[in-house]
Amino acid sequence: MSGTRIELHTHLEGALTPQRLVTLAERHGQPGVPAACLNAAGDAYVHEGFQGFLRLFRDATSLLRTPDDFRAVAGDLGNQLAADGVAYAEVTVSFGVLLRRGIPPRSVMEALADEAARVGEEQGVVLRWIPDAVRQWGLDAAWRAWEAAAGCGRELGVVGFGLGGDEAAGPAADFAAVFAEVRAEGLGVTIHAGEVTAMGDHGRRSVRDAVEICGARRIGHGTAAGADPALLELLAARGVHVEACPGSNLATGAVACPADHPLRVFLDTGVSCSLNTDDRAFFGLDLESEFASARTVFGLTEAEEAGLTAAARVAVFDRQAYPDSRACPDSP
Ligand SMILES: [Zn+2]
Repeated sequence: MSGTRIELHTHLEGALTPQRLVTLAERHGQPGVPAACLNAAGDAYVHEGFQGFLRLFRDATSLLRTPDDFRAVAGDLGNQLAADGVAYAEVTVSFGVLLRRGIPPRSVMEALADEAARVGEEQGVVLRWIPDAVRQWGLDAAWRAWEAAAGCGRELGVVGFGLGGDEAAGPAADFAAVFAEVRAEGLGVTIHAGEVTAMGDHGRRSVRDAVEICGARRIGHGTAAGADPALLELLAARGVHVEACPGSNLATGAVACPADHPLRVFLDTGVSCSLNTDDRAFFGLDLESEFASARTVFGLTEAEEAGLTAAARVAVFDRQAYPDSRACPDSP
């Protein structure tokens, strides 16, 4: 039976389970990788702090090398989403990393589209894809990632284009020209911004630039916006959707404690937002646990819970999936 939930912010690479990591390490003759990434029992990832997480993520996902590796993870993700009551997910795939590692994005996307068709048929979960670029690798690399994404197009399930990576190293404003093209193609723009609250003014500027300069319809995380009433007003007025990931923010140390996440602020100021897992296998998260935690930490009511799912439905980039979505790209 298929579920009713929607997930808008989950990374394909983040669905790499410890078990799959071990299988891939055997396939590629790299036994040292799981030894360095997993606990003694081999059933959970270990890391310390945000930088430690980035290192872990880089090392573990270095074993994703062939289209078949990505296909296997997409199949695992389909199982995870089906068990989590998800009917529809837009899944980020790092084209920036694929290109840097010399893996042809199109061959990966063909395998993913093929696997998505199987997952849809057998699990009742619709998978769509959001390729993204890595900001610290610069504008030229972002253009190459976008060109590869545009080449894959809607026929392979691409519905948007995103930007991730180290916010301090590359402000979203540098990529305005790329996102102007994304919008011109009619694809959705989502940008990781304001993830780490400790960035202070930089985090708030990062969110504002993503909206005002790059025309983002969705913001990944957006945590820093919680402390800026004018920015919250801007998000609410423009109907920009925040893909909130409280469990991930806690796991990486982006927020110090659960109550520091601004979900309650978003809800109370009329900012459209949803709950998402970000890197579900790395953090051992699912939407079930995210909603349970939000009930406890933020006093999420039943109506608010339904509201989060309704807001996600409106914010999907694939208009065919949900007729009431309004994913049309706006001018910034
Ligand atoms: Zn993310």
